[in-house]
Amino acid sequence: MAEPVRPARRGLIMIMSSPSGAGKSTLTRTLKSSSEANLDLSISVTTRAKRPSEIEGVHYHFIDRETFDRMRAHDELLEWAEVHGNGYGTPRKPVEDSLKAGRDVLFDIDWQGTQQILERAREDVVTIFILPPSMRELRSRLVRRAEDAPEVIAKRLANARDEIARYAVYDYVIVNDHLETAYEVVRSILIAERFKRTRAVGLDTFVDGLLTEDLS
Ligand code: ADP
Ligand code: 5GP
Repeated sequence: MAEPVRPARRGLIMIMSSPSGAGKSTLTRTLKSSSEANLDLSISVTTRAKRPSEIEGVHYHFIDRETFDRMRAHDELLEWAEVHGNGYGTPRKPVEDSLKAGRDVLFDIDWQGTQQILERAREDVVTIFILPPSMRELRSRLVRRAEDAPEVIAKRLANARDEIARYAVYDYVIVNDHLETAYEVVRSILIAERFKRTRAVGLDTFVDGLLTEDLS
């Protein structure tokens, strides 16, 4: 079958945020591994300790505070924030390289980082907020994930209300009750956003071609 006709467009930045445990990492990882989605995942730096299941360079780049401060000072981070007492940030270079190549980039970052990116590149950003079906279920998921110490879970639950209160910063809000359904919604948003007229830089040329096409 012939390749589908697609006017050229700028790469988009898709941001997913949620209170800890609502399911954004599960959703971003599923999206990243789907061949249809075909996008790059931004790998953040963090000063927090690695969880047992995490892999350096896959889930995060785990760095010390000194390195984090140096990256900030050298403007190597596109955005950064302190979350649950740790430093987190997005390395600038890989994201800029992907976008320049016309590729879409997926971010799993908090509301503070989302605001920083919105201030710089609103037109190219689509934001999604994931809510848990209930606070009780959020707590169960944090406990079931079994990756954090009880005091870390307690801190994350305590911070969840402040994070949930930021939902209005986001374009789309999804209650992650049934995982497959939530994933279908995320996938649909990505497909729709790829057709946004304002990012289709090749549309004028494509339409000119249609209007001047010789049918004789
Ligand atoms: P976050 O990245 O938002 O902190 P995770 O993606 O790590 O959250 O999900 C927290 C836990 O909840 C994980 O163990 C994950 O497998 C589980 N989970 C995610 N979505 C659902 C869902 N819809 N129903 C039940 N469990 C879920
Ligand atoms: P976790 O420690 O559970 O992996 O992440 C804690 C929080 O930090 C989550 O809300 C996650 O989205 C956020 N986070 C992860 N990486 C970044 C980042 O690079 N920048 C910002 N601002 N937040 C991040």
